[in-house]
Amino acid sequence: MILCSPKLATRARMAELNNLILTPVMAIKLFIPGPTVVSEDILKEMSLPMIAHRSKKASEIQKRISDNMQKILFTENRILLSTSSGSGLMEGAIRSCTAKRAAVFSIGAFGDKWYKMAKTNGIPADKFDSVMGEPTTAEMVDAALSTGKYDLLTVTHNETSSGIQNPVEEIAEVMKKYPDVVWCVDAVSSAAGSKIETDKLGIDVLITSTQKALALPPGLAICAMSKKAYDRTAEVENRGLYFDLRTIWDFIDKKNYQYTSTPCLSLMYALDKQLQHIVEVEGIENRFARHEELAAYTRAWADEHFAVYPNRKYLSKTLTVIDSRPKGSDEMISIPELNAFLAPRNLQLGNGYGGLKDKTFRIAHMGELQMEDMKEITAAVEDFLKSK
Ligand SMILES: *Cc1c(COP(=O)(O)O)cnc(C)c1O
Repeated sequence: MILCSPKLATRARMAELNNLILTPVMAIKLFIPGPTVVSEDILKEMSLPMIAHRSKKASEIQKRISDNMQKILFTENRILLSTSSGSGLMEGAIRSCTAKRAAVFSIGAFGDKWYKMAKTNGIPADKFDSVMGEPTTAEMVDAALSTGKYDLLTVTHNETSSGIQNPVEEIAEVMKKYPDVVWCVDAVSSAAGSKIETDKLGIDVLITSTQKALALPPGLAICAMSKKAYDRTAEVENRGLYFDLRTIWDFIDKKNYQYTSTPCLSLMYALDKQLQHIVEVEGIENRFARHEELAAYTRAWADEHFAVYPNRKYLSKTLTVIDSRPKGSDEMISIPELNAFLAPRNLQLGNGYGGLKDKTFRIAHMGELQMEDMKEITAAVEDFLKSK
């Protein structure tokens, strides 16, 4: 009989667990709209030792994140971070900044989610829907706000379910007529991939999170908040605590860029490094140009083999939503079958979302993906079509 020492047994078990946990995850190239591929040097940042979250070093990191984020979002507004996914700050924004009634414009799943957040927090709100695949128009916003019923507006910048990028420049023109309305924008799947000139547009709360075009692991939400939005929070009685934007703002002010509760420091290291990469190495404008090129390539490819799903006038720059029927066919391909075909090549794309599941599929072209990656995934989908 061979007896194994407890220490060795533990090591063996650890190795087994490591294999179980790491092996299937490491190699897959993701073309789903979040989480996106994270580069290896950024992943390494996540394994650095902890520091005290009340240290000078923590303040330094958080200030640098804030400065670089302002550059990427073209804003002087205050940057707030939250250890949560993007949804946390979406809920925080509508709850902290609605004193009267919110006008929620929805063009798909994530607009609907913002409305649900309002309702479940007891915030008076109305939802204005567009037909799936169509944008929120400036006329719709004007019609709603001209009633005088609303003091907060939410708009989805880039709807990840339909593949639409809303015409925020046109909406910004209309918003000039309503200086008392706080304008919140969900840019979770577009910020750092599409150019959004926050201050020029007059956006009061612009929200994003780490796992999409920023190409980081999920777990941090980021927003840029205006003084006007901050002032509004004083009129709101029940703002909650963890996601209360006023509490976070005040704490950053008083404690030199520190946060109310212990933030995910590992993600902050990674975010800090990634923002330096975007600003100083790749260049912000180059990053946007790369996303435009990838989008143009993917759309042209989709046109050749399938059809792009949403209204072409408003196409997203960070993902393409594609009709599941190949050109000239009435029959949809099976997206689970397609992904099963892609799996041995370590590739994965996104099924449609919500009501568009199976009827569409989604190819993300955001974050760190390069043209050769887009050529790889599209060639693989063509191979799948040929195999049928
Ligand atoms: C992913 C996504 C969200 C939700 O963000 P989380 O970080 O997962 O909470 C919200 N809005 C849009 C447009 C998204 O794509």
